[in-house]
Amino acid sequence: MANDMKTISILGATGSIGRSSLDVISSLGDSFNIFGLSCHKNIVLLYEQIIQFNPVYAIITDQASYEAFIRQHGEEVNSTKILFGHEGMDIISSNENVSTVIAAITGFPCIYSVLSAIKHNKTILIANKEILVSAGNMIISQLKNSKATILPIDSEHNALLQIILSSGLEYKINDAHYYKNKIKNLVITASGGPFIDYNFKDLQKVIAKDAIKHPTWNMGKKISVDSSTMMNKGLEIIEAKILFNLNIENITAIIHRQSKIHAFVEFFDGTVISHMSNPDMKIPISYAITYPERKFISDGNFFSYDNLTFEEVTQDKFPCYRLAREVAHIGKNSGLILNAANEISVEYFLEDRIAYLDIPNIIEDILESSEIINHDSFDSIIENDKEIRELTKDRIKTKYL
Ligand code: NDP
Ligand code: MG
Repeated sequence: MANDMKTISILGATGSIGRSSLDVISSLGDSFNIFGLSCHKNIVLLYEQIIQFNPVYAIITDQASYEAFIRQHGEEVNSTKILFGHEGMDIISSNENVSTVIAAITGFPCIYSVLSAIKHNKTILIANKEILVSAGNMIISQLKNSKATILPIDSEHNALLQIILSSGLEYKINDAHYYKNKIKNLVITASGGPFIDYNFKDLQKVIAKDAIKHPTWNMGKKISVDSSTMMNKGLEIIEAKILFNLNIENITAIIHRQSKIHAFVEFFDGTVISHMSNPDMKIPISYAITYPERKFISDGNFFSYDNLTFEEVTQDKFPCYRLAREVAHIGKNSGLILNAANEISVEYFLEDRIAYLDIPNIIEDILESSEIINHDSFDSIIENDKEIRELTKDRIKTKYL
């Protein structure tokens, strides 16, 4: 039926989440149309995706890559129009024919398109956690003035959503009043990353190529580094706070090396319900795409229940996690500062320009030297994010290179 047809744009189609989303959509048959796909630099893959999915628009956000694509293929490929940058991103996030926007760009630049999608009442399937950490309150207040919905793709938050709905509760984003007397604690799991058993001396020698080898998940480079420092889990604690709005003391993380249990919800009657699946992002992505139904048929391996282990997160060993928890308590613009300083530090680390152990030191340094303020406008958030990035780069140049 025409009403069931979803028309989807994927922001960051060439990334790990973007590719998995397209795999899921292909496997779900013909109730989905692709309206827009975007990439930053990977124009070779974007071209293949255009041929396979025939979107109305394909957007390239890196100027040199856009120009190279146009030289090679022209401004239209079959019936797909090729556009550049913000303007193109805005079209695929807001066009009246789009029902669903998958936000799978890494980092803060995803914010413009997500706000545009909110303004135009779209269903936003959000993988990107950086914008919730940096501008969560503003995003929530924009959501309250629109008919848009945000559904989490991040496996732990998608698991929390599934547990909450399976327990007879409703999904009411950020509704402290609704959740506080129904849910005692939210617990998300962390694999512990590739360096969980390393000591301080081992960590001093770590370089980028070691940090991007994740033991259980196959992800983009930035989130892989964040997983290794446990910043990813810190960002996810803040993400859970934005989505479900319990007190931060009631949102915790636990190390579970096998990545088979993704989250637990503890209820006041003493019941604890967990969500399990093999570590395959297609599972949470498919749930968000077909929400609230389950239509996806996983081609994954048999689920084995062997050796499920749990360990406490030691904050001394994972200073990035400690910093994120501190920020979750402080609130205001501290999430923005943490995120911007982390994005820049990880960028430098991925280029092997700073040491692995510099990452938490730089972030702490920037948090200590930045002003903690409340933002009352989108422009001030954008401005503050720019300032913190510049400050972090300057600090790295003067102190860490
Ligand atoms: P990838 O690095 O694999 O992909 C990132 C995507 O964003 C690519 O399409 C990339 O284009 C595009 N992109 C990169 N920089 C920019 C920019 N400045 N402007 C516009 N587009 C840009 O990342 P992942 O797919 O791993 O992660 C995406 C988001 O999802 C992150 O926020 C991450 O935290 C979150 N997430 C990821 C999970 C995973 O399993 N991968 C799990 C949970 C959350 P190009 O390829 O052309 O460079
Ligand atoms: Mg996650």
